[in-house]
Amino acid sequence: MYLCASTLWKLTLGGGFGGLYTALRLESLVWPDDKKPQVVLVDQSERFVFKPMLYELLSGEADVWEIAPRFSDLLSNTGIQFLRDRVKTLLPCDHLGGNGSESSVAGGTVLLESGFLIEYDWLVLALGAEPKLDVVPGAMEFALPFYTLEDTIRVKEKLSKLERRNFKDGSAIKVAIVGCGYGGVELAATISERLQDRGIVQCINVSKSILTSAPNGNREAAMKVLMSRKVQLLLGYLVRCIKRAGDSEASEEDGGYVLELQPAERGLESQVIEADIVLWTIGSKPLLTKLEPSGPNVLPLNVRGQAETDETLRVKGHPRIFALGDSSSLRDSDGKLLPTTAQVAFQEADFTGWNIWAAINDRPLLPFRFQNLGEMMTLGRYDGAISPSFIEGLTLEGPIGHAARKLAYLIRLPTDEHRIKVGISWFAKSAVDSVALLQSNLTKILSGS
Ligand SMILES: Cc1cc2nc3c(=O)[nH]c(=O)nc-3n(C[C@H](O)[C@H](O)[C@H](O)COP(=O)(O)OP(=O)(O)OC[C@H]3O[C@@H](n4cnc5c(N)ncnc54)[C@H](O)[C@@H]3O)c2cc1C
Repeated sequence: MYLCASTLWKLTLGGGFGGLYTALRLESLVWPDDKKPQVVLVDQSERFVFKPMLYELLSGEADVWEIAPRFSDLLSNTGIQFLRDRVKTLLPCDHLGGNGSESSVAGGTVLLESGFLIEYDWLVLALGAEPKLDVVPGAMEFALPFYTLEDTIRVKEKLSKLERRNFKDGSAIKVAIVGCGYGGVELAATISERLQDRGIVQCINVSKSILTSAPNGNREAAMKVLMSRKVQLLLGYLVRCIKRAGDSEASEEDGGYVLELQPAERGLESQVIEADIVLWTIGSKPLLTKLEPSGPNVLPLNVRGQAETDETLRVKGHPRIFALGDSSSLRDSDGKLLPTTAQVAFQEADFTGWNIWAAINDRPLLPFRFQNLGEMMTLGRYDGAISPSFIEGLTLEGPIGHAARKLAYLIRLPTDEHRIKVGISWFAKSAVDSVALLQSNLTKILSGS
């Protein structure tokens, strides 16, 4: 099938922080009548996923519709057309000629898994990344990544199964988390709070500290929470391999796992730990590398597999393709690669939308400048930490940090309608939580305990 028209077609591949927010930005701009493009958003999933809040699904704080709304609901009041499909091949024809001029005024075509072929004038690449588990023997087979909505549901189901086992036989639930970056620490805080004294949570990190590149305030706040919940930190260790424990014939449902740890620092001894569930939080690879090569006009990718762009987020050599988020490699003014975060993708989406508008309307394109607003994390249902970059040394932690983070994310949810629905829902839940807390405190006082 072929999709093509006389109007301008602006195609966005990937409906995450980069793609969805670019499409919404384009919708919000004012267009001369004859230049308004038809925006088509293609995603393999039926839902947009607000990944920084996946932990709230494990803690039970949020519902799926709140942090992973359906594109059909989100886009129902917009002119954006949504196609659920998987991008297979890019066939751009806007590559520059030898003299640097545009050899073609057309954009190109994209082949989707369903066989659909879409012709576009402008293309936005925002396919994100996937977890990288093939670095340690056994990780692919036995560890669970925590990266997508489906991963979260799988982890939640496995925890519920282990909780039922614990209820029957009282055996402790052993959780091993590989990595103590934000992902590992947020998971450890969330799961240790959920399991309380029914579980043992162990976190393994190659470095001798946690959150090595985070602001001190966030690291200290996280350390306090992890210690108070008796999370065991195995710092200075590499995971050598992950194996099934005991009888190798046992089914995945029944068996536990063994992790062999090798010291990464002098003075430490090798260790072997057991776990009922192994969660993998380190490493990722961009999904652009999964697209089929498309002839001589292939995109320039860096060693990580991210598209190389100029400052305006246009892919080098392809004036009609923009790349952003985890799919793109852009450096800051110090020459450092920008981190693969929602904060970067969100800000880039604003510029990408504007620059497509500028390119169509023959205006100058703007160079992207990342503004680091600070770092935030959840540490369970009532704890969090925020270190804003604009107030040196300030960290909001505990319930205040938790509430401030939630408010910051509420503001960033896509579309006004969704923001209002979620705001009402969170307000209602926190009112119910407060009443329950008050009731339990009153009961304690009255019973004298
Ligand atoms: C658990 C977790 C917690 C995080 N916490 C934070 C945080 O606290 N703060 C922060 O700033 N960042 C955080 N991040 C990172 C942040 O979520 C990503 O950097 C951000 O989502 C990148 O945006 P993106 O648009 O590039 O990719 P994504 O948001 O991942 O979107 C990519 C989209 O492309 C779609 N797609 C992929 N391949 C195809 C294909 N072939 N065909 C069709 N569709 C496709 C996917 O379905 C997806 O919807 C977190 C990430 C994870 C996994």
